[in-house]
Amino acid sequence: MSCDRCGKSLLIDEPVRYVAMLTVQAAYDALEITAKDLARDHAALARDALARAAGMDAMDLEEQVHAVRTFDLCPGCQREVLDNPAGRGQ
Ligand SMILES: [Zn+2]
Repeated sequence: MSCDRCGKSLLIDEPVRYVAMLTVQAAYDALEITAKDLARDHAALARDALARAAGMDAMDLEEQVHAVRTFDLCPGCQREVLDNPAGRGQ
């Protein structure tokens, strides 16, 4: 087993390991519905969405909405990830 970030052997080079779980999901914002929205052809919109989805892989579609990744980390990478989880400046 090795650190997914730096490759260091875990439980050999480092007695402690960490598991990081990253969840990325589509954000939901409350909608303000207008008269223009109500006038749209919703059946046509649904047909277009289904047609676009028909040629896509089910996993790709699911990950556009919700994706989870799990990483094993050594103590050094655990600290770095907590200090800079978005990886800014890297
Ligand atoms: Zn590491």
